[in-house]
Amino acid sequence: MGSADMQTHARLANVFTPQLKSHDRFGRRVDQVEFHPSYHALMTEATAAGLHGTPFAEAEKATGHAHVKRAAGFMLFTELEPSVLCPISMTYAVTPALQDNAAIYRDWAPQLTSRAYDPALSLWKGKPGVTMGMGMTEKQGGSDVRANTTQAVADGQDAWGKRYLVTGHKWFMSAPMCDAFLILAQTPAGVSCLFLPRVLPDGTVNAIHIQRLKDKLGNKANASSEVEFVDATAWLVGDEGRGVPQILEMGTMTRLDCALGTSGLMRQSLAIALHHTAQRQAFGKPLIAQPLMRNVLADLALESEAACMLALRLARAFDRPDDAHERAMARLLTPVAKFWICKRGSHFAQEAMECLGGNGYVEEGGEGVMARIYREMPLNSIWEGAGNIMAIDLLRALRKSDAAAALAHECAPARGTHAALDRLIAALPTRIEAADSEIGARRLAQDIALALQASLLAQSAPGYVVGTFCASRLAGDWGHVFGTLGAGTDVDAIIKRAQPT
Ligand SMILES: Cc1cc2nc3c(=O)[nH]c(=O)nc-3n(C[C@H](O)[C@H](O)[C@H](O)COP(=O)(O)OP(=O)(O)OC[C@H]3O[C@@H](n4cnc5c(N)ncnc54)[C@H](O)[C@@H]3O)c2cc1C
Repeated sequence: MGSADMQTHARLANVFTPQLKSHDRFGRRVDQVEFHPSYHALMTEATAAGLHGTPFAEAEKATGHAHVKRAAGFMLFTELEPSVLCPISMTYAVTPALQDNAAIYRDWAPQLTSRAYDPALSLWKGKPGVTMGMGMTEKQGGSDVRANTTQAVADGQDAWGKRYLVTGHKWFMSAPMCDAFLILAQTPAGVSCLFLPRVLPDGTVNAIHIQRLKDKLGNKANASSEVEFVDATAWLVGDEGRGVPQILEMGTMTRLDCALGTSGLMRQSLAIALHHTAQRQAFGKPLIAQPLMRNVLADLALESEAACMLALRLARAFDRPDDAHERAMARLLTPVAKFWICKRGSHFAQEAMECLGGNGYVEEGGEGVMARIYREMPLNSIWEGAGNIMAIDLLRALRKSDAAAALAHECAPARGTHAALDRLIAALPTRIEAADSEIGARRLAQDIALALQASLLAQSAPGYVVGTFCASRLAGDWGHVFGTLGAGTDVDAIIKRAQPT
Protein backbone atom coordinates (compact mmCIF):
# COMPACT_ATOMS: atom_id res chain seq x y z
CA MET A 1 0.00 0.00 0.00
CA GLY A 2 2.89 2.36 0.59
CA SER A 3 4.69 1.71 -2.69
CA ALA A 4 5.64 4.60 -4.96
CA ASP A 5 3.12 3.37 -7.54
CA MET A 6 0.26 3.39 -5.06
CA GLN A 7 1.25 6.83 -3.78
CA THR A 8 1.19 8.10 -7.36
CA HIS A 9 -2.32 6.68 -7.77
CA ALA A 10 -3.37 8.45 -4.57
CA ARG A 11 -2.00 11.76 -5.81
CA LEU A 12 -3.54 11.46 -9.26
CA ALA A 13 -6.95 10.44 -7.90
CA ASN A 14 -6.95 13.66 -5.85
CA VAL A 15 -5.70 15.91 -8.64
CA PHE A 16 -8.01 14.57 -11.38
CA THR A 17 -11.22 14.66 -9.44
CA PRO A 18 -14.49 12.88 -10.37
CA GLN A 19 -16.59 14.49 -13.11
CA LEU A 20 -20.36 14.23 -13.45
CA LYS A 21 -21.75 13.24 -16.84
CA SER A 22 -25.43 13.98 -16.29
CA HIS A 23 -26.64 13.72 -19.93
CA ASP A 24 -25.44 12.33 -23.22
CA ARG A 25 -25.08 14.54 -26.28
CA PHE A 26 -28.70 13.87 -27.28
CA GLY A 27 -29.95 15.18 -23.97
CA ARG A 28 -30.77 11.82 -22.41
CA ARG A 29 -29.90 11.35 -18.76
CA VAL A 30 -26.93 9.09 -18.15
CA ASP A 31 -26.14 9.98 -14.50
CA GLN A 32 -22.60 8.69 -14.60
CA VAL A 33 -19.56 9.86 -12.68
CA GLU A 34 -16.25 9.54 -14.45
CA PHE A 35 -13.18 8.80 -12.32
CA HIS A 36 -9.49 8.88 -13.13
CA PRO A 37 -8.03 5.38 -13.67
CA SER A 38 -6.02 5.86 -10.46
CA TYR A 39 -9.27 5.98 -8.47
CA HIS A 40 -10.18 2.58 -9.88
CA ALA A 41 -6.69 1.28 -9.13
CA LEU A 42 -7.10 2.31 -5.48
CA MET A 43 -10.58 0.78 -5.28
CA THR A 44 -9.27 -2.45 -6.79
CA GLU A 45 -6.54 -2.68 -4.12
CA ALA A 46 -8.84 -1.82 -1.22
CA THR A 47 -11.33 -4.45 -2.33
CA ALA A 48 -8.64 -7.05 -2.96
CA ALA A 49 -7.41 -6.44 0.60
CA GLY A 50 -10.88 -7.29 1.89
CA LEU A 51 -11.52 -3.87 3.42
CA HIS A 52 -15.16 -3.73 2.28
CA GLY A 53 -17.64 -6.54 3.02
CA THR A 54 -15.14 -9.38 3.40
CA PRO A 55 -15.31 -9.67 7.24
CA PHE A 56 -18.91 -10.82 6.81
CA ALA A 57 -17.93 -13.78 4.60
CA GLU A 58 -18.41 -17.04 6.53
CA ALA A 59 -14.76 -18.08 6.24
CA GLU A 60 -13.57 -14.73 7.61
CA LYS A 61 -16.11 -14.73 10.44
CA ALA A 62 -14.85 -18.16 11.50
CA THR A 63 -11.40 -16.70 12.26
CA GLY A 64 -12.91 -14.77 15.20
CA HIS A 65 -10.86 -11.68 14.38
CA ALA A 66 -12.20 -10.61 10.99
CA HIS A 67 -13.14 -7.09 12.11
CA VAL A 68 -9.86 -6.37 13.90
CA LYS A 69 -7.86 -7.66 10.95
CA ARG A 70 -9.87 -5.55 8.55
CA ALA A 71 -9.58 -2.55 10.91
CA ALA A 72 -5.78 -2.76 10.80
CA GLY A 73 -5.90 -2.92 7.00
CA PHE A 74 -8.31 0.02 6.90
CA MET A 75 -5.99 2.11 9.09
CA LEU A 76 -3.05 1.35 6.81
CA PHE A 77 -4.99 2.07 3.64
CA THR A 78 -6.18 5.41 4.97
CA GLU A 79 -2.52 6.42 5.13
CA LEU A 80 -2.37 5.84 1.40
CA GLU A 81 -5.64 7.55 0.45
CA PRO A 82 -8.65 8.13 2.70
CA SER A 83 -11.35 9.31 0.29
CA VAL A 84 -11.83 6.09 -1.67
CA LEU A 85 -12.46 4.44 1.67
CA CYS A 86 -15.88 6.14 1.73
CA PRO A 87 -17.57 3.59 -0.58
CA ILE A 88 -15.35 0.84 0.88
CA SER A 89 -16.55 1.72 4.37
CA MET A 90 -20.21 1.90 3.35
CA THR A 91 -19.96 -1.48 1.65
CA TYR A 92 -18.45 -2.88 4.85
CA ALA A 93 -21.07 -1.24 7.02
CA VAL A 94 -24.19 -2.23 5.12
CA THR A 95 -24.41 -5.91 6.01
CA PRO A 96 -25.84 -5.73 9.56
CA ALA A 97 -28.70 -3.55 8.31
CA LEU A 98 -29.23 -5.29 4.98
CA GLN A 99 -29.49 -8.71 6.59
CA ASP A 100 -32.95 -7.71 7.79
CA ASN A 101 -34.19 -8.24 4.25
CA ALA A 102 -33.06 -11.87 3.99
CA ALA A 103 -33.98 -12.25 0.30
CA ILE A 104 -31.95 -9.27 -0.86
CA TYR A 105 -29.06 -10.16 1.38
CA ARG A 106 -29.01 -13.74 0.09
CA ASP A 107 -28.86 -12.47 -3.50
CA TRP A 108 -26.26 -9.74 -2.89
CA ALA A 109 -23.99 -11.26 -0.22
CA PRO A 110 -21.63 -13.11 -2.60
CA GLN A 111 -20.81 -9.88 -4.44
CA LEU A 112 -20.68 -7.79 -1.27
CA THR A 113 -18.09 -10.06 0.32
CA SER A 114 -16.01 -10.90 -2.77
CA ARG A 115 -12.58 -9.35 -3.28
CA ALA A 116 -13.34 -8.11 -6.78
CA TYR A 117 -14.05 -4.53 -7.86
CA ASP A 118 -16.15 -3.79 -10.93
CA PRO A 119 -17.13 -0.16 -11.59
CA ALA A 120 -19.55 -1.00 -14.45
CA LEU A 121 -23.13 0.25 -14.28
CA SER A 122 -24.74 -3.13 -14.87
CA LEU A 123 -26.91 -5.75 -13.21
CA TRP A 124 -25.40 -6.95 -9.92
CA LYS A 125 -25.83 -10.62 -10.84
CA GLY A 126 -23.30 -10.41 -13.65
CA LYS A 127 -20.70 -8.51 -11.63
CA PRO A 128 -17.84 -10.12 -9.67
CA GLY A 129 -18.21 -7.54 -6.89
CA VAL A 130 -20.45 -4.63 -5.86
CA THR A 131 -20.30 -1.52 -3.69
CA MET A 132 -23.04 0.12 -1.62
CA GLY A 133 -23.73 3.59 -0.27
CA MET A 134 -26.25 5.37 1.95
CA GLY A 135 -28.67 8.25 1.55
CA MET A 136 -30.01 9.85 4.73
CA THR A 137 -29.14 13.55 4.65
CA GLU A 138 -31.62 15.95 3.04
CA LYS A 139 -31.47 19.72 2.54
CA GLN A 140 -33.41 20.49 5.69
CA GLY A 141 -31.25 18.29 7.89
CA GLY A 142 -28.81 15.46 8.30
CA SER A 143 -28.78 14.97 12.05
CA ASP A 144 -32.56 15.16 12.39
CA VAL A 145 -33.38 12.53 9.78
CA ARG A 146 -36.93 12.17 11.08
CA ALA A 147 -37.56 15.43 9.24
CA ASN A 148 -36.86 13.68 5.89
CA THR A 149 -39.40 14.61 3.22
CA THR A 150 -38.66 11.98 0.55
CA GLN A 151 -41.80 9.91 0.01
CA ALA A 152 -42.13 6.17 -0.68
CA VAL A 153 -45.42 4.92 -2.10
CA ALA A 154 -46.31 1.21 -1.98
CA ASP A 155 -45.91 -0.52 -5.36
CA GLY A 156 -46.70 -4.17 -4.63
CA GLN A 157 -44.61 -7.10 -3.50
CA ASP A 158 -42.10 -9.47 -5.13
CA ALA A 159 -39.27 -11.85 -4.27
CA TRP A 160 -37.44 -9.04 -2.43
CA GLY A 161 -40.52 -8.17 -0.35
CA LYS A 162 -42.47 -4.90 -0.19
CA ARG A 163 -41.69 -2.64 -3.15
CA TYR A 164 -42.05 1.17 -3.23
CA LEU A 165 -41.76 4.08 -5.64
CA VAL A 166 -39.59 6.79 -4.14
CA THR A 167 -39.77 10.50 -4.96
CA GLY A 168 -37.65 13.15 -3.31
CA HIS A 169 -33.99 14.02 -2.87
CA LYS A 170 -30.80 13.51 -0.89
CA TRP A 171 -28.54 16.48 -0.30
CA PHE A 172 -25.44 14.41 0.39
CA MET A 173 -25.12 10.99 -1.20
CA SER A 174 -21.50 10.02 -1.52
CA ALA A 175 -20.10 7.57 -4.04
CA PRO A 176 -23.16 7.76 -6.30
CA MET A 177 -21.66 5.12 -8.63
CA CYS A 178 -22.29 2.45 -6.00
CA ASP A 179 -24.45 -0.45 -7.15
CA ALA A 180 -27.10 0.16 -4.50
CA PHE A 181 -27.92 2.33 -1.48
CA LEU A 182 -29.80 2.13 1.76
CA ILE A 183 -31.93 5.25 1.99
CA LEU A 184 -34.54 6.74 4.29
CA ALA A 185 -37.98 7.77 3.04
CA GLN A 186 -41.41 8.48 4.53
CA THR A 187 -44.01 5.72 4.21
CA PRO A 188 -47.47 5.92 5.81
CA ALA A 189 -45.95 4.26 8.91
CA GLY A 190 -43.16 6.86 9.18
CA VAL A 191 -39.47 7.01 8.22
CA SER A 192 -38.47 3.68 6.68
CA CYS A 193 -35.26 2.13 5.40
CA LEU A 194 -35.22 1.10 1.74
CA PHE A 195 -32.87 -0.73 -0.57
CA LEU A 196 -32.37 1.26 -3.78
CA PRO A 197 -30.35 -0.41 -6.55
CA ARG A 198 -28.98 1.65 -9.47
CA VAL A 199 -29.86 -1.09 -11.94
CA LEU A 200 -33.20 -2.86 -11.41
CA PRO A 201 -33.56 -6.65 -11.60
CA ASP A 202 -35.00 -6.32 -15.14
CA GLY A 203 -31.80 -4.57 -16.25
CA THR A 204 -33.23 -1.05 -16.55
CA VAL A 205 -31.53 1.88 -14.85
CA ASN A 206 -33.34 3.14 -11.75
CA ALA A 207 -34.60 6.75 -11.66
CA ILE A 208 -31.78 8.21 -9.57
CA HIS A 209 -30.83 11.58 -11.04
CA ILE A 210 -27.46 12.97 -10.01
CA GLN A 211 -27.93 16.76 -9.91
CA ARG A 212 -24.47 17.94 -8.88
CA LEU A 213 -21.23 16.84 -7.29
CA LYS A 214 -20.20 18.71 -4.14
CA ASP A 215 -17.20 21.02 -4.27
CA LYS A 216 -15.60 19.87 -1.01
CA LEU A 217 -12.77 21.12 1.21
CA GLY A 218 -11.00 17.76 0.98
CA ASN A 219 -11.93 14.14 0.28
CA LYS A 220 -11.32 15.09 -3.34
CA ALA A 221 -10.99 11.66 -4.93
CA ASN A 222 -14.43 10.66 -3.69
CA ALA A 223 -17.57 11.94 -5.41
CA SER A 224 -20.29 13.25 -3.08
CA SER A 225 -23.50 14.01 -4.92
CA GLU A 226 -26.87 15.71 -4.68
CA VAL A 227 -29.52 13.39 -6.10
CA GLU A 228 -33.21 13.36 -6.92
CA PHE A 229 -35.43 10.30 -7.08
CA VAL A 230 -38.29 10.30 -9.57
CA ASP A 231 -40.42 7.24 -8.89
CA ALA A 232 -37.28 5.24 -8.19
CA THR A 233 -37.94 1.61 -7.25
CA ALA A 234 -36.86 0.45 -3.80
CA TRP A 235 -37.55 -2.40 -1.37
CA LEU A 236 -38.24 -2.28 2.37
CA VAL A 237 -35.47 -3.33 4.76
CA GLY A 238 -36.63 -4.07 8.30
CA ASP A 239 -39.97 -2.80 9.57
CA GLU A 240 -41.93 0.06 8.08
CA GLY A 241 -41.63 3.14 10.27
CA ARG A 242 -38.45 1.83 11.96
CA GLY A 243 -36.06 3.21 9.36
CA VAL A 244 -33.87 5.27 11.68
CA PRO A 245 -32.73 2.45 14.00
CA GLN A 246 -32.49 0.21 10.93
CA ILE A 247 -30.09 2.42 8.99
CA LEU A 248 -28.17 3.24 12.16
CA GLU A 249 -26.99 -0.36 12.18
CA MET A 250 -25.07 0.72 9.11
CA GLY A 251 -24.17 4.05 10.71
CA THR A 252 -22.59 2.27 13.67
CA MET A 253 -20.07 0.50 11.45
CA THR A 254 -19.22 3.64 9.48
CA ARG A 255 -18.68 5.44 12.80
CA LEU A 256 -16.13 2.77 13.68
CA ASP A 257 -14.41 3.60 10.40
CA CYS A 258 -14.35 7.32 11.22
CA ALA A 259 -12.40 6.46 14.38
CA LEU A 260 -10.12 4.03 12.54
CA GLY A 261 -9.56 6.45 9.68
CA THR A 262 -8.66 9.38 11.93
CA SER A 263 -6.37 7.20 13.97
CA GLY A 264 -4.61 6.04 10.79
CA LEU A 265 -4.19 9.62 9.59
CA MET A 266 -2.75 10.60 12.99
CA ARG A 267 -0.22 7.80 12.74
CA GLN A 268 0.76 8.85 9.24
CA SER A 269 1.15 12.54 10.02
CA LEU A 270 3.20 11.64 13.11
CA ALA A 271 5.47 9.41 11.01
CA ILE A 272 5.96 12.21 8.48
CA ALA A 273 6.70 14.71 11.28
CA LEU A 274 9.22 12.37 12.90
CA HIS A 275 10.91 11.71 9.59
CA HIS A 276 11.06 15.35 8.58
CA THR A 277 12.37 16.64 11.90
CA ALA A 278 15.07 13.98 11.89
CA GLN A 279 16.36 15.36 8.55
CA ARG A 280 15.88 19.10 8.97
CA GLN A 281 18.66 21.15 10.59
CA ALA A 282 17.81 24.28 12.59
CA PHE A 283 20.01 26.24 14.95
CA GLY A 284 22.89 23.79 14.62
CA LYS A 285 21.15 20.45 15.07
CA PRO A 286 18.35 18.31 13.69
CA LEU A 287 14.94 19.67 14.65
CA ILE A 288 14.15 16.41 16.39
CA ALA A 289 17.02 17.14 18.79
CA GLN A 290 15.55 20.49 19.87
CA PRO A 291 13.99 20.05 23.35
CA LEU A 292 10.74 21.87 22.62
CA MET A 293 10.24 19.98 19.33
CA ARG A 294 10.77 16.76 21.31
CA ASN A 295 7.96 17.80 23.63
CA VAL A 296 5.64 18.31 20.64
CA LEU A 297 6.58 15.02 18.98
CA ALA A 298 6.26 13.02 22.19
CA ASP A 299 2.87 14.55 22.92
CA LEU A 300 1.66 13.67 19.41
CA ALA A 301 3.02 10.15 19.79
CA LEU A 302 1.02 9.64 22.98
CA GLU A 303 -2.15 10.90 21.32
CA SER A 304 -1.63 8.69 18.27
CA GLU A 305 -1.02 5.54 20.30
CA ALA A 306 -4.05 6.21 22.51
CA ALA A 307 -6.26 6.79 19.45
CA CYS A 308 -5.01 3.60 17.83
CA MET A 309 -5.73 1.56 20.97
CA LEU A 310 -9.25 2.92 21.39
CA ALA A 311 -10.18 2.46 17.72
CA LEU A 312 -8.90 -1.10 17.61
CA ARG A 313 -10.61 -1.90 20.91
CA LEU A 314 -13.88 -0.83 19.36
CA ALA A 315 -13.22 -3.00 16.29
CA ARG A 316 -12.64 -5.99 18.57
CA ALA A 317 -16.10 -5.57 20.06
CA PHE A 318 -17.62 -6.33 16.64
CA ASP A 319 -15.78 -9.65 16.45
CA ARG A 320 -17.69 -11.00 19.47
CA PRO A 321 -21.38 -10.25 19.02
CA ASP A 322 -22.33 -13.25 21.20
CA ASP A 323 -20.57 -11.80 24.24
CA ALA A 324 -22.79 -9.45 26.30
CA HIS A 325 -19.87 -7.31 27.50
CA GLU A 326 -18.60 -6.88 23.94
CA ARG A 327 -22.08 -5.88 22.77
CA ALA A 328 -22.23 -3.30 25.53
CA MET A 329 -18.79 -2.05 24.52
CA ALA A 330 -19.79 -1.78 20.87
CA ARG A 331 -22.80 0.35 21.82
CA LEU A 332 -20.91 2.52 24.30
CA LEU A 333 -17.57 2.89 22.57
CA THR A 334 -18.95 3.75 19.13
CA PRO A 335 -20.08 7.30 20.02
CA VAL A 336 -17.17 7.75 22.46
CA ALA A 337 -14.46 6.78 19.95
CA LYS A 338 -16.09 8.59 17.02
CA PHE A 339 -16.51 11.73 19.10
CA TRP A 340 -13.13 11.88 20.79
CA ILE A 341 -10.70 10.55 18.21
CA CYS A 342 -12.26 12.57 15.39
CA LYS A 343 -12.34 15.73 17.54
CA ARG A 344 -8.62 15.35 18.22
CA GLY A 345 -7.81 14.70 14.56
CA SER A 346 -7.82 18.24 13.23
CA HIS A 347 -5.68 19.63 16.07
CA PHE A 348 -3.32 16.73 15.66
CA ALA A 349 -2.92 17.23 11.90
CA GLN A 350 -2.35 20.97 12.34
CA GLU A 351 0.42 20.37 14.87
CA ALA A 352 2.06 17.62 12.84
CA MET A 353 1.93 19.89 9.78
CA GLU A 354 3.59 22.68 11.75
CA CYS A 355 6.52 20.37 12.50
CA LEU A 356 7.31 20.70 8.77
CA GLY A 357 7.05 24.49 8.86
CA GLY A 358 5.97 26.17 5.62
CA ASN A 359 6.66 23.04 3.56
CA GLY A 360 3.93 21.25 5.49
CA TYR A 361 1.37 23.70 4.13
CA VAL A 362 2.30 23.07 0.51
CA GLU A 363 0.43 20.57 -1.63
CA GLU A 364 3.37 19.64 -3.81
CA GLY A 365 5.44 16.45 -3.59
CA GLY A 366 5.48 13.62 -1.09
CA GLU A 367 5.14 15.89 1.90
CA GLY A 368 2.07 17.49 0.29
CA VAL A 369 0.30 14.54 1.82
CA MET A 370 0.15 16.66 5.00
CA ALA A 371 -2.23 19.10 3.36
CA ARG A 372 -4.43 16.22 2.20
CA ILE A 373 -4.52 14.76 5.69
CA TYR A 374 -5.36 18.15 7.19
CA ARG A 375 -8.27 18.67 4.78
CA GLU A 376 -9.61 15.19 5.45
CA MET A 377 -9.58 15.39 9.24
CA PRO A 378 -12.70 17.52 9.90
CA LEU A 379 -14.77 15.29 7.67
CA ASN A 380 -14.50 12.26 9.91
CA SER A 381 -15.85 14.42 12.72
CA ILE A 382 -18.77 15.83 10.71
CA TRP A 383 -20.22 12.94 8.74
CA GLU A 384 -22.03 9.99 10.21
CA GLY A 385 -23.08 12.09 13.17
CA ALA A 386 -21.19 15.25 14.09
CA GLY A 387 -19.65 15.78 17.55
CA ASN A 388 -22.75 16.92 19.43
CA ILE A 389 -24.83 14.13 17.94
CA MET A 390 -22.25 11.59 19.11
CA ALA A 391 -22.16 13.04 22.62
CA ILE A 392 -25.97 12.98 22.80
CA ASP A 393 -25.97 9.42 21.47
CA LEU A 394 -23.62 8.47 24.29
CA LEU A 395 -26.23 9.70 26.79
CA ARG A 396 -28.76 7.39 25.11
CA ALA A 397 -26.32 4.48 25.31
CA LEU A 398 -25.69 5.20 28.99
CA ARG A 399 -29.41 5.22 29.71
CA LYS A 400 -30.31 2.01 27.94
CA SER A 401 -27.68 -0.54 28.91
CA ASP A 402 -25.94 -1.42 32.12
CA ALA A 403 -23.28 0.88 30.84
CA ALA A 404 -21.66 1.98 34.08
CA ALA A 405 -21.01 -1.62 35.11
CA ALA A 406 -19.67 -2.51 31.66
CA LEU A 407 -17.35 0.47 31.75
CA ALA A 408 -16.10 -0.39 35.23
CA HIS A 409 -15.46 -3.97 34.10
CA GLU A 410 -13.55 -2.71 31.06
CA CYS A 411 -11.34 -0.39 33.11
CA ALA A 412 -10.83 -2.78 36.05
CA PRO A 413 -7.52 -4.29 34.81
CA ALA A 414 -5.96 -0.80 34.85
CA ARG A 415 -6.80 0.02 38.45
CA GLY A 416 -3.73 0.90 40.50
CA THR A 417 -1.76 2.10 37.47
CA HIS A 418 -2.05 5.80 38.28
CA ALA A 419 -3.84 7.71 41.03
CA ALA A 420 -5.53 10.09 38.58
CA LEU A 421 -6.86 7.18 36.54
CA ASP A 422 -8.17 5.51 39.69
CA ARG A 423 -9.97 8.72 40.64
CA LEU A 424 -11.55 9.06 37.22
CA ILE A 425 -12.67 5.41 37.09
CA ALA A 426 -14.15 5.73 40.58
CA ALA A 427 -16.04 8.90 39.68
CA LEU A 428 -17.56 7.70 36.41
CA PRO A 429 -20.49 5.61 37.78
CA THR A 430 -21.85 8.59 39.74
CA ARG A 431 -21.34 10.92 36.82
CA ILE A 432 -23.08 8.47 34.49
CA GLU A 433 -26.02 8.15 36.86
CA ALA A 434 -26.33 11.93 37.05
CA ALA A 435 -25.94 12.42 33.28
CA ASP A 436 -29.42 13.62 32.48
CA SER A 437 -28.65 16.87 30.69
CA GLU A 438 -27.16 17.31 27.23
CA ILE A 439 -25.13 20.32 28.24
CA GLY A 440 -22.47 18.16 29.90
CA ALA A 441 -22.46 15.41 27.27
CA ARG A 442 -19.24 16.41 25.51
CA ARG A 443 -17.37 16.55 28.80
CA LEU A 444 -18.61 13.11 29.76
CA ALA A 445 -17.75 11.65 26.33
CA GLN A 446 -14.27 13.14 26.62
CA ASP A 447 -13.66 11.76 30.11
CA ILE A 448 -14.96 8.28 29.28
CA ALA A 449 -12.68 8.28 26.23
CA LEU A 450 -9.68 9.31 28.32
CA ALA A 451 -10.43 6.68 30.98
CA LEU A 452 -10.66 4.00 28.30
CA GLN A 453 -7.53 5.15 26.50
CA ALA A 454 -5.54 5.21 29.72
CA SER A 455 -6.87 1.78 30.69
CA LEU A 456 -5.96 0.32 27.32
CA LEU A 457 -2.48 1.85 27.44
CA ALA A 458 -2.02 0.51 30.97
CA GLN A 459 -2.52 -2.98 29.58
CA SER A 460 -0.27 -2.70 26.56
CA ALA A 461 2.19 0.19 26.71
CA PRO A 462 5.32 0.71 28.81
CA GLY A 463 5.08 2.66 32.08
CA TYR A 464 6.57 5.83 30.61
CA VAL A 465 3.74 5.99 28.05
CA VAL A 466 0.82 5.33 30.35
CA GLY A 467 2.39 7.39 33.16
CA THR A 468 2.81 10.43 30.89
CA PHE A 469 -0.63 9.95 29.36
CA CYS A 470 -2.23 9.96 32.82
CA ALA A 471 -0.11 12.82 34.15
CA SER A 472 -0.93 15.02 31.16
CA ARG A 473 -4.48 14.04 30.16
CA LEU A 474 -5.88 13.12 33.59
CA ALA A 475 -3.79 14.79 36.32
CA GLY A 476 -3.57 18.26 34.77
CA ASP A 477 0.20 18.37 34.13
CA TRP A 478 -0.49 19.68 30.63
CA GLY A 479 -1.39 22.85 28.73
CA HIS A 480 -4.09 23.55 26.18
CA VAL A 481 -1.99 22.70 23.12
CA PHE A 482 0.29 19.84 22.10
CA GLY A 483 3.90 20.15 23.26
CA THR A 484 3.08 21.01 26.86
CA LEU A 485 4.10 17.78 28.60
CA GLY A 486 5.51 18.38 32.06
CA ALA A 487 9.18 18.75 32.93
CA GLY A 488 10.74 15.40 33.69
CA THR A 489 8.73 13.54 31.03
CA ASP A 490 10.78 10.82 29.39
CA VAL A 491 10.30 12.27 25.91
CA ASP A 492 13.30 10.33 24.58
CA ALA A 493 11.69 6.98 25.32
CA ILE A 494 8.30 8.06 23.95
CA ILE A 495 9.81 9.33 20.69
CA LYS A 496 12.00 6.27 20.27
CA ARG A 497 8.96 4.02 20.64
CA ALA A 498 7.05 6.01 18.01
CA GLN A 499 9.86 6.22 15.45
CA PRO A 500 9.51 3.89 12.49
CA THR A 501 12.65 1.76 12.45
C1 LIG B 1 -18.19 15.03 2.31
C2 LIG B 1 -19.48 14.60 2.90
C3 LIG B 1 -20.06 13.41 2.47
C4 LIG B 1 -21.28 12.99 2.99
N1 LIG B 1 -21.82 11.83 2.53
C5 LIG B 1 -23.05 11.46 2.97
C6 LIG B 1 -23.68 10.30 2.47
O1 LIG B 1 -23.12 9.56 1.66
N2 LIG B 1 -24.92 10.00 2.91
C7 LIG B 1 -25.56 10.78 3.83
O2 LIG B 1 -26.67 10.45 4.19
N3 LIG B 1 -24.99 11.88 4.32
C8 LIG B 1 -23.74 12.24 3.93
N4 LIG B 1 -23.15 13.36 4.43
C9 LIG B 1 -23.91 14.21 5.33
C10 LIG B 1 -23.44 14.18 6.76
O3 LIG B 1 -23.66 12.91 7.33
C11 LIG B 1 -24.18 15.32 7.47
O4 LIG B 1 -23.61 16.52 6.98
C12 LIG B 1 -24.09 15.24 8.97
O5 LIG B 1 -24.81 14.14 9.43
C13 LIG B 1 -24.63 16.51 9.63
O6 LIG B 1 -25.88 16.84 9.12
P1 LIG B 1 -26.17 18.32 8.56
O7 LIG B 1 -25.09 18.66 7.60
O8 LIG B 1 -27.55 18.37 8.05
O9 LIG B 1 -26.00 19.26 9.80
P2 LIG B 1 -27.12 19.57 10.93
O10 LIG B 1 -27.93 18.37 11.20
O11 LIG B 1 -27.81 20.83 10.54
O12 LIG B 1 -26.15 19.87 12.15
C14 LIG B 1 -25.32 21.04 12.23
C15 LIG B 1 -24.59 21.01 13.54
O13 LIG B 1 -25.53 21.04 14.61
C16 LIG B 1 -25.29 20.00 15.53
N5 LIG B 1 -26.56 19.55 16.07
C17 LIG B 1 -27.60 18.99 15.41
N6 LIG B 1 -28.58 18.69 16.26
C18 LIG B 1 -28.19 19.08 17.50
C19 LIG B 1 -28.76 19.05 18.80
N7 LIG B 1 -29.96 18.51 19.02
N8 LIG B 1 -28.06 19.54 19.82
C20 LIG B 1 -26.83 20.08 19.63
N9 LIG B 1 -26.24 20.13 18.44
C21 LIG B 1 -26.89 19.64 17.38
C22 LIG B 1 -24.55 18.93 14.75
O14 LIG B 1 -23.70 18.16 15.63
C23 LIG B 1 -23.75 19.76 13.77
O15 LIG B 1 -22.54 20.13 14.35
C24 LIG B 1 -21.92 13.78 3.96
C25 LIG B 1 -21.33 14.96 4.42
C26 LIG B 1 -20.12 15.36 3.90
C27 LIG B 1 -19.51 16.64 4.39
